Amino acid sequence: MSNRSIAIEENVSLQPYNTLAVPASTRWFTCVTTETQLKEALEFCREQQCEWLLLGGGSNVVLASDFLGLTIQLKLQGLSLEEETDTHVKLSIAAGENWHDTVMYCVAKSWYGLENLALIPGSVGAAPIQNIGAYGVELEQCFDYLEAMNITSGEMQVFDKPACEFAYRDSVFKHHSKDQWVITRVVLILSKQPQWQLHYPALQAQLGHIPQDQLTARLVAEAVIAIRQSKLPHPDDIPNAGSFFKNPIVSNEECQRLKQHFPELVAYAQDTQPQTYKLAAGWLIDHAGWKGKEVDGIAMHKEQALVLTNPNRLIGQALLAFVEQVKSDIQQKYSITLEVEPRIYS
Ligand code: FAD
Ligand code: NAP
Repeated sequence: MSNRSIAIEENVSLQPYNTLAVPASTRWFTCVTTETQLKEALEFCREQQCEWLLLGGGSNVVLASDFLGLTIQLKLQGLSLEEETDTHVKLSIAAGENWHDTVMYCVAKSWYGLENLALIPGSVGAAPIQNIGAYGVELEQCFDYLEAMNITSGEMQVFDKPACEFAYRDSVFKHHSKDQWVITRVVLILSKQPQWQLHYPALQAQLGHIPQDQLTARLVAEAVIAIRQSKLPHPDDIPNAGSFFKNPIVSNEECQRLKQHFPELVAYAQDTQPQTYKLAAGWLIDHAGWKGKEVDGIAMHKEQALVLTNPNRLIGQALLAFVEQVKSDIQQKYSITLEVEPRIYS
């Protein structure tokens, strides 16, 4: 008889647990709500000598084949104030909390910093993995530290901002700390004074006419939500994983080379990396004729060329075959190698 408190199910479909609705299955499945349960789940993997797959909301993964190990859905809950001063709060949030609900909680409290990041699907624990970002704001701007459990030893460790090595849609957890840690808690610093970031054209169009002293976090969050709802498909209606490709970062020379051939190319100078430009991957894909184009049941979205959709809920391999076609066409047309943003499990 096992002393485990967690329920482990066998041969479970992961289709409801990934927003691309890929019908992959897992040999074992469990949902953990406490750190003790997480330890038990990892102990189970050691006993069975099987692999583990961590899932939050499943909104940034491609499950390209059936998984032969234990899938652990992280549902650690809880939110508490760690510190409050006249100018800021430090908010500690368990990894399994929903990201958007957390944003709206802060908006309601008039704690500023997260309003541009409204309506991003998924969990708080996954947010540092790719340093989530939208409308000119990235997680790292509000990030203080996180706590994570070592998968092998079960030890807890704190990662401050430098240790996370945040970059554009990137962190240490995609590189040399990949698959070694389960993020259990994230601590954010939020300001009691607004610091609006409204330079994106879509936000300007929605809010530019409002004097800054009349803006509220709620108004900004609601504008972000309205813009997103107008062009991004809801995964429940049309399965997708948000932007499927990263915006390529290229040198000044590379950008000028492309601009000679494509004067209307959308490119932004990078403040953080001088002499480099961020190309709008959505523009490259749209201009190459892929926006709204469906091949064998998979399509780039008709309103947003960067969003790959899986309307027929096909298997991951079908999706990856489509991805290769898009990538090779972009390579051929612009000599640019597109990089996939979601994590692929093959
Ligand atoms: P999952 O997909 O469950 O996991 C992603 C990866 O992180 C996996 O490798 C998983 O193993 C790992 N992981 C998850 N939780 C943990 C943890 N606690 N510890 C360690 N590893 C973990 N992203 C943006 O940056 N900006 C956007 O504006 C944005 N918009 C989106 C819009 C739509 C419609 C969709 C579908 C996606 C969008 N995304 C966006 C991508 C996605 O929502 C984010 O990357 C989000 O943070 C993923 O959270 P999740 O819980 O779903 O992660
Ligand atoms: P958009 O506002 O139409 O902009 C198109 C592209 O141009 C984006 O990739 C954006 O880069 C860039 N851009 C626009 N204005 C910019 C500025 N003033 N300075 C620098 N870069 C600028 O993009 P969208 O597709 O509707 O998405 C809106 C925001 O939500 C974007 O920030 C996007 O990243 C985010 N989003 C992300 C995902 C995801 O899954 N990762 C999904 C949906 C939306 P950035 O992408 O670097 O911001």
